[in-house]
Formats: sequence, structure tokens, C-alpha cells
Amino acid sequence: MRLKDRTALITGAGRGIGRAIAEHYAREGARVAVADLDPDTANDVARAIREGGGEAMALAMDVTDEQAVEDGFQAVADQWGGVDIALANAGIQHIDPIHKLAYGDWQKVINVHLNGAFLVTRAALGQMYAGGGGAMLYMGSVHSVEASPLKSPYVAAKHGLLGLCRTVAKEGAEYRVRSNIICPGFVRTPLVEKQIPEQAKELGIPEEEVIRNVMLKNTVDGQFTTVEDVSELAVHLAAFPSAALTGQSIVVSHGWHMQ
Ligand code: NAD
Repeated sequence: MRLKDRTALITGAGRGIGRAIAEHYAREGARVAVADLDPDTANDVARAIREGGGEAMALAMDVTDEQAVEDGFQAVADQWGGVDIALANAGIQHIDPIHKLAYGDWQKVINVHLNGAFLVTRAALGQMYAGGGGAMLYMGSVHSVEASPLKSPYVAAKHGLLGLCRTVAKEGAEYRVRSNIICPGFVRTPLVEKQIPEQAKELGIPEEEVIRNVMLKNTVDGQFTTVEDVSELAVHLAAFPSAALTGQSIVVSHGWHMQ
């Protein structure tokens, strides 16, 4: 049990990667606040964790809503005394070439990934600084360190998270807060399933080719990264025992990007 008696809050944990991490954290002994825009999925995940013998609460939280983020963290403090681990994971995607991209779509993606991560960070640090330290985590992407066409707001936001993560590592050190960013390659979650036909249409190629020649082309073995791969890394980063590992981006992508 690598996270025994720790308290974690994960955003966007109602499905996909966030859900897998919430369940993995609970198996490692953490109390988990499952936060999501969609309260039904957050409730489902929290219930599944409790039925498996773990401890969890569900939070309806839109990460772009300042008050909702503050209220969610307050609810965790009221119930469990504060957070030790916070993961800004909530995310969306939008596929369009820049010259056709509506300003509203640009803003929507930046708002969820970058502004949402700021609000989550500020609320989390307040509790971690008061509580003697913690682990701040971000869900970046290979798109934090590489660009792809058609995803400009996502790539820009994910690059921006690197800067936020590193700043938190520097400011948080004196309060015993570490900060790291997980950068996965393609994982077959609903977010990615939706892009396959969208990219096929935009690029004028079959869906199979999007998978083989766009998404997995530069991996060493043509394999998708799995939610288990990502959750294993998220446990490792949360559990790491010293400030030797802070301000780092770790790429988990079957070798798509090597740094
Ligand atoms: P997903 O679409 O399966 O899940 C995203 C979750 O975030 C959903 O439950 C959704 O309700 C929630 N969400 C969306 N907007 C929100 C908001 N404003 N407030 C709170 N919750 C919100 O996606 P996923 O693939 O599990 O992605 C999770 C994270 O991992 C994202 O940050 C994504 O960019 C990142 N990521 C995904 C991949 C991949 O290939 N799937 C690769 C690298 C990084």
C-alpha cells in the first residue's frame, strides 16, 4: 500500500485515465475525492471504490468554475482534513486547423486545461501548505513536448502546464510540496475514440490509417499506452519519498517521444 492514509483529489475522474488513477490510488490505500463535471460518473466511480472496500467521495466540479473548485476542496477538508495529493487531469480535445479554428473553441480548450489547472493548483496548495506538504500532479501529454497538426489549443495548453508544474516545484519546495507532470502517448479513452473519425475526415484518410500512421507511427512497437500504464506512473509520482523528484515531466508513450 504505497498511498496508505493519504488523501487525493483527482479532477476529470469520472471516466478514462482519471477514473483508472482514482481506482488505483484507492487500491494503494488513499482516500480519494473523485471530481468531475459529470456528477453521475463521479458518483459511479466513488461507489465502485467503496464497494471494493476503499474510501471515496464524489464531487461535482467544473474545473473552470472558481467557486466550484474552492467548494470541492473545502468539502474534502471538511470530511478528511485536507488533501495530500491533487491531480489536475480534466481535459477536452478539439480538432481543427488553426485557420478555421473559432476563438470560442480555442478558449474552451485553454480554459479547461490551463485555467482549470491553475484553479485546482491554488486551492490544493492552500491546503498542502497548511498541512505540511504534498504532491501536486498534472496530466500533461506527449503534446506537452511535441506538436501535432489540428490540435493547436490542446498543444499550447499542454505545453503551458509544464511551466505551471515547474513553477509550483520552485514555489512549493519550502512547504514540502513536490510537483510533477505525467505525459502520456495515445490512450484509448473516449477522448481519443472521438478524435479517430474526426481526424480521418479532416485528413481525408481511413480511420485505421489515423491509428497506424498518425497516432502510433512513432512508437517503438505500434501499441497504445494503457490507463494502467498511466496510473502506475501516477502512483509512483505521488508516493515518491523525497524532493529529489520534483519539477519533472515523465513521458509514458511506448517511445513515441524520448527525452
Ligand atoms: P476522457 O474524455 O475519457 O475523460 C475526461 C474527463 O474529464 C471526463 O470524465 C469529463 O467529464 C471530464 N471533464 C471535462 N471537462 C471538465 C471540466 N470542465 N471540469 C471537470 N471535469 C471535466 O479523457 P481522458 O483520455 O481520460 O483524458 C484525461 C486527461 O488525460 C486529459 O487531460 C487528457 O488531455 C489527458 N491525456 C489523454 C491522452 C489520451 O490519449 N487519452 C493522452 C495524453 C493526455
